Amino acid sequence: MKVIKNISDMRAWSESRRISGKRIGFVPTMGFLHEGHLSLIRTAKEKCEFVVVSIFVNPAQFGPNEDFSRYPRDFDRDRQMCLEEGVDIIFYPAVEELYPTGYKTYVITEDISKILCGVSRPDHFRGVTTIVAKLFNIVNPHVAVFGQKDAQQAIIIKRMISDLDFGIETIIAPIIREPDGLAMSSRNKYLSETDKKEAIALYRSLKLARLEMINKNNDVADIREKMTQLITSESSGRIDYIEFRDADSLVEEKIAEGSVLVAIAVYFGKTRLIDNMIV
Ligand code: AMP
Repeated sequence: MKVIKNISDMRAWSESRRISGKRIGFVPTMGFLHEGHLSLIRTAKEKCEFVVVSIFVNPAQFGPNEDFSRYPRDFDRDRQMCLEEGVDIIFYPAVEELYPTGYKTYVITEDISKILCGVSRPDHFRGVTTIVAKLFNIVNPHVAVFGQKDAQQAIIIKRMISDLDFGIETIIAPIIREPDGLAMSSRNKYLSETDKKEAIALYRSLKLARLEMINKNNDVADIREKMTQLITSESSGRIDYIEFRDADSLVEEKIAEGSVLVAIAVYFGKTRLIDNMIV
């Protein structure tokens, strides 16, 4: 396994592998890896001869008062985990490599980046689409793997790949959870032991929503109210949103029908957790 830090070396490596006719699978991450990330790596390995993992805490996707500087980082641990998974390349650029002085260009997906997480994080998805587009241009993969954990991000990236003709196959891998149901996330490190126990309420509320819908309740307002009650009675979390959207288009569902994405965001102190389920 090699660690590559600059753009030209990364390009040269990919070029040489593409010439050989082999497929390159790509897993973009912000590091501080956990089983969720490893599941994406395993999926990429199943599909492709080579796997590139990028580790880059992308400043462009953090708001001014967000956690960019304190975002958890542990490159040595990440490198060991990638080595054990049989990753071929870690692309690990410095911020100045990707955003040199004078950087001015951003990729924006219109309305779908303004809803859900885009309401409380207005420039977040602009940062995500920009970095992913840049990484696609540098790594030039055949396949890219993202997690369903970030459901809105997955839909936005698929849209961008299609709209900008990247010609990259996308795979959206399922959410990996702790045994108690808490969706794995690098940001779980911020949670106290009490928060962690209480945060199970997110998954429990999603299961409640699923049960309601299975039992033919399609009244979104009623299901939202039941989820709100569960979360507020079982935790100290502050709800940012509970939304019901079409699982492909993200169009709001007034009545739950078809394939519904139930998406939630809840604050525990300053830490904002997201989770979702497609019913
Ligand atoms: P991050 O490092 O948090 O930016 O995440 C990198 C990739 O891992 C994204 O595609 C995420 O959706 C995915 N991911 C993060 N957590 C999970 C999880 N618990 N299960 C599956 N995929 C995940």
